Amino acid sequence: MGSRFEITVVAENQVAGDQFIDKAVAEIRRIEMLISSWDPTSETSQINQAAGVRAVVVNSELFDLIKRAVRISQITEGAFDITYASMDKIWKFDGSMTAMPSKESIGESVALVGYKNIVLDAKESSVFLKLPGMKIGFGAIGKGYSADKARMLLEVNGVTGGIINASGDLTTWGTQPDGTPWMVGITNPLNNDKVFSWFPLRNSAVATSGSYEKYVAINGERYTHIIDPRTGYPVRGLESVSVFAPKAELADALATALFVMGRETGLNFVNQLKGVDCVMVDDEGKIYKSEQIEFSDLPK
Ligand code: ADP
Ligand code: MG
Repeated sequence: MGSRFEITVVAENQVAGDQFIDKAVAEIRRIEMLISSWDPTSETSQINQAAGVRAVVVNSELFDLIKRAVRISQITEGAFDITYASMDKIWKFDGSMTAMPSKESIGESVALVGYKNIVLDAKESSVFLKLPGMKIGFGAIGKGYSADKARMLLEVNGVTGGIINASGDLTTWGTQPDGTPWMVGITNPLNNDKVFSWFPLRNSAVATSGSYEKYVAINGERYTHIIDPRTGYPVRGLESVSVFAPKAELADALATALFVMGRETGLNFVNQLKGVDCVMVDDEGKIYKSEQIEFSDLPK
């Protein structure tokens, strides 16, 4: 998935622990094969290749993931949208981009963005992207989804506690061996390496989206990898958004969505959701949080 995973398990001994970790790694690889956009044979690539032409029958796991992604688009009014992916023709974050894309090219690509043009047929387990050139991508939900799945697999295998950390999008279950909860520290990206608050995580997940994680600089301006699906332009205003939720998949997707919504709309939205919280840092380093969150000053 192009990102670093860190797996922690509570086990009787090293050998047992290593076996569990191997299982988790295999599960993450399996999911990567399903949702990868760079592997031309993955079901996701097949859906993209058939855009505007025909529906593609897919595995129920992928079908359900797409269905939940569309649901998140609906509740976020399109701020989160897996069809953002046709914008990756325009905004490239691999160093190959040197000039600002033209308004026309952005307009052409953004016309292909829109989750309402994903046609799901539950009976056939098929997915059809209505417009030729349309594309889906799981960059904003895949890490969380794989973390959840790896955790579920380990739980089924009897692992009583652990952390699956997909480059900062993580889920925890159980407790540390001494019975204390797992703790997660949130840092201020503008004041690096300084944890400003610690939170206990009890059978829950946290995900962070950062504008500093992946970006391209053009004429001294920084353009981040999170795209506003409505305009086709990279989002501005926030430096990082961390979301706490029961599942890493939801936390991952909502962190991206909140980035797009911006501070005010985003906080209002989270304050209306049960079981979801967030912490935001704006581009001046100011910290904002949803109503339920209490900052604690636990030992560093
Ligand atoms: P991070 O990689 O920092 O954890 P995110 O979880 O926010 O970031 O995912 C960002 C990635 O999601 C982008 O690199 C891109 O692949 C994809 N993406 C960008 N904008 C959107 C959007 N509005 N909706 C859904 N996916 C997006
Ligand atoms: Mg995300």
